[in-house]
Amino acid sequence: MQARVEVLGSGREVGRAAIAVWDSRGRAVLLDYGVNFDEEDKPLFPGHIRPKDLDAVVLTHSHLDHVGAAPSLYISVKPPLVATPLTLDVSRLLLMDMIKLNGPFLPYDEQVVDMMLSAAHTASYGEEVEAGGFRLQLVYNGHIPGSAAVLVEVDGTRVLYTSDMNMAETKLMSPASFDGIRADVVIIESTYSVYTHPERRATEERFYKAVREVVEAGGTVLVPAFSVSRSQEIMALLAERDFEYPVWVDGMARQVAELYAAHPGYLRDPALLRKALREQRLVRGWADRRRAPRKPGVIISSAGTLKGGPSLYYLRRIADNPRNAVFLVSFQPPNTPGRQLVEEGVYGESGTPLQARLEWFDFSSHTDGRGVIEALRRLRGVQRVILVHGEYDGQVRLAERINEEFGVETLIPENGESIPLE
Ligand SMILES: [Zn+2]
Ligand SMILES: [Zn+2]
Repeated sequence: MQARVEVLGSGREVGRAAIAVWDSRGRAVLLDYGVNFDEEDKPLFPGHIRPKDLDAVVLTHSHLDHVGAAPSLYISVKPPLVATPLTLDVSRLLLMDMIKLNGPFLPYDEQVVDMMLSAAHTASYGEEVEAGGFRLQLVYNGHIPGSAAVLVEVDGTRVLYTSDMNMAETKLMSPASFDGIRADVVIIESTYSVYTHPERRATEERFYKAVREVVEAGGTVLVPAFSVSRSQEIMALLAERDFEYPVWVDGMARQVAELYAAHPGYLRDPALLRKALREQRLVRGWADRRRAPRKPGVIISSAGTLKGGPSLYYLRRIADNPRNAVFLVSFQPPNTPGRQLVEEGVYGESGTPLQARLEWFDFSSHTDGRGVIEALRRLRGVQRVILVHGEYDGQVRLAERINEEFGVETLIPENGESIPLE
């Protein structure tokens, strides 16, 4: 048997991350085990792997497309689970919430999630972890608080899996550096292979200016945002600028913000989030929820795509007044109400036209094609690049750029494909 990388998910698709690294004895470590959702919101699982073959499972960060399938590995055996403490805390919150929403479609329940967490071995950046014949190390990767890349040493080959990563500074995070890290093989995300993000500072500036315009004219700004990381990013941005109008935070974003504040070591500037939690108002129930849109201010609420969650309630409350605004701060996937709003300017089942101002801002926490190239420049000894977590057309163009600059073999595996390690 030969050591190899097996792509079980995120091959030529964004999300559903699942990468197995096998050694020559037929043992494996699994890097992420996430889900995607189909059009009816049912979870789609990655390819199967036998839990008894695993020496460890590493969870790189607390997004469902990286952790959503992981508990299914803990029904009979308990392979050691490696992650940062913050990733474990936020993942628990998200998995319990997913069971509430999708319980009937999941092969595990709350008890299994806790069984998985009881197998956890928390690790910090740079700490060496031995797992069977593998040596593992978490590496800071700038994506969201607690997130990590993973360096795996298998039969003398060093494999770096970047997972979702960011090379730009955000309010919550410092950029990834990867400076001088030695890796023979790099498995790297390619969510934005060819698209280039606008300069982050300029986006922050434009967002803040637009928020002020609306609020100073007596309006309410609804910011639908994912509860993990994006909501706290907007909270920190407003806190940094001493925004003097009410800011309300609703949905699971509240609990996540509190977990982030409890693990300040993972934040670029923990004082910003502490200030936000002190000054901004956490919606505690329906009385607050009804009150929030009554006076000029900002409401940050899940879901980020307006698919359920309190953001849908707020949208209905503020939509028919042109003084108000809806500012979207994340990518809106096809078949979501947010996408419909952007493309057709309407919402709800009967397609009611939105009267409020609508804008979209690129606050992505993923690097773009430039960042991928930059990351590869900083690494040492790279002989092969494997692109995952991206759309095929863009990946092909990114692979050409990588070949041009570095002259290394660049692969774009499908799900189910195995790549032998020499
Ligand atoms: Zn992802
Ligand atoms: Zn992610």
